[in-house]
Amino acid sequence: MVTLVGAGPGGCGLLTLAGAEALRQADVVIYDRLVSEDILAMIPPHAVRVDVGKESSHHTVPQDGINALLVQHAQRGGSVVRLKGGDCYLFGRGGEECEYLRAHGVPFRVLPGVTSALAAPAFAGIPVTHRDFCSSVHIITAHAKKNGPLQIDYENLVRLRGTLVFLMGVTALPEVCAGLLAAGLAPDTPAAVVENGARPNQRKAVSSVAGLPGAAREMGLKSPAVIVVGAVCSLSGALDWFTPLPLHGKTVAVTRPRERAGTLAGRLRALGAEVLELPCVEAVLREDQAPLSCALGCSFDWAAFTSPTGVHMAVRALRALGRDLRALYGLRLAAVGPGTAEALTQYGLAADLVPQAADGAHLADALLEVLPDDGAVLLLRGSSGDPALRERLLGADMVVADVPLYDTIPRAADAETLRRRLADGTLPLAAFASASAVRGFAQAAQGCDLSAVRAACIGPQAGQAARAHGFRTVTAKTASIDALIDCILEEFPDATPNDTPAPPARG
Ligand code: SAH
Repeated sequence: MVTLVGAGPGGCGLLTLAGAEALRQADVVIYDRLVSEDILAMIPPHAVRVDVGKESSHHTVPQDGINALLVQHAQRGGSVVRLKGGDCYLFGRGGEECEYLRAHGVPFRVLPGVTSALAAPAFAGIPVTHRDFCSSVHIITAHAKKNGPLQIDYENLVRLRGTLVFLMGVTALPEVCAGLLAAGLAPDTPAAVVENGARPNQRKAVSSVAGLPGAAREMGLKSPAVIVVGAVCSLSGALDWFTPLPLHGKTVAVTRPRERAGTLAGRLRALGAEVLELPCVEAVLREDQAPLSCALGCSFDWAAFTSPTGVHMAVRALRALGRDLRALYGLRLAAVGPGTAEALTQYGLAADLVPQAADGAHLADALLEVLPDDGAVLLLRGSSGDPALRERLLGADMVVADVPLYDTIPRAADAETLRRRLADGTLPLAAFASASAVRGFAQAAQGCDLSAVRAACIGPQAGQAARAHGFRTVTAKTASIDALIDCILEEFPDATPNDTPAPPARG
């Protein structure tokens, strides 16, 4: 079975849920050049990746070769995903691929994607139709077959009076505009070129049809870009919601383990940042769970968890001992913060206590308020947990078993991307939630100069490690995601919203 998946115009946010699911199930993924890194990162590690790097004028693998690859992989069994930029069927030769699969008896499905023809204008403040301006939108390729002349019927296009969207048209921009003008389009008709639409590095030129080639040349706009022609382009300033986002155009590396990157990465993306998920630590369950086994033979009042990973690891550690969560029967449960409490609910457990602030000191104080004299606490966490939590409890004469379930290993999952981004200077800031993540990053950087990278650290331990490795370091005021995000916003002082221009008069 081959599944054609439209990857959308940019990051994973515009990949469909069905597309994401197909990727997760894939054994082989055959993908184009326009597919973004964060979508490629969703491919399971065991899956075979084939880059057929298709670009309009130079096909790394010619179409015949791609067709043959699809059939070859499908015939070996397993699930083959053909991942294409934007939508599969819009100028992506998806139709030809499906015809070829059908002719070879290979079953296929097609999961459409968000096309750049509509998404790039939307991210540039241009609604492709609008009742005040037009009632149709037309999508046209400006790519000539085999270097021949463009086959565009300008007269008919102009007569339609709809919005025109040209793909693959950057090289042919002067020719397209001249063709439209010669066919009678008013020279002052608003028009735009949107480069890297819906991506963090989006740029646009907005002008009249007559002025557009000059404006695009001045900015040095390149492929991939769409050309939009029509009165709706006059809205592109007023309806620009994307570039005013505070972190638009800024890149932030999130170094937490992938399963924990979610909230921080999501919130940074919502602020417009390009988020590079570069996990720099890995949680590894300890083989030796004797300390847990031993602790389960004693009696406790409370079990305390200090991270979502700790919760998941506790479940796995119990399983390794042939037990399950019933081993904690009767204990009251404390979670250091809402994320950890949420992890408990995934196993049907409700936290009995979550302190006001998500750190060891607050957890200790909150526990001390509810513990009886000579109370006993079972700490289920990693081997590098903050000793302050244990010591505060011991200092108040409580019995504490601090059971190391797992080790946090500094290790970058994708050292190659990290080094490439450091080398080309496109990694201005990395966010660190632990000293181990700093170490994992520094190890992967292999002696690169880190003084050009700002480290935004969630707490003093990570901050110390970052300074020691030569990062320009800032530390969040409190150990929370909110404070970390504030601190990242402060690091990009120019990242304040633009003034939104007044809306234009209606035609
Ligand atoms: N199937 C794709 C289009 C493939 S043709 C889709 O539906 O989007 C390749 C052309 O798509 C490029 O030359 C460019 O015109 C356009 N394109 C793809 N991604 C783009 C992006 N992020 N921003 C602007 N144009 C893009």
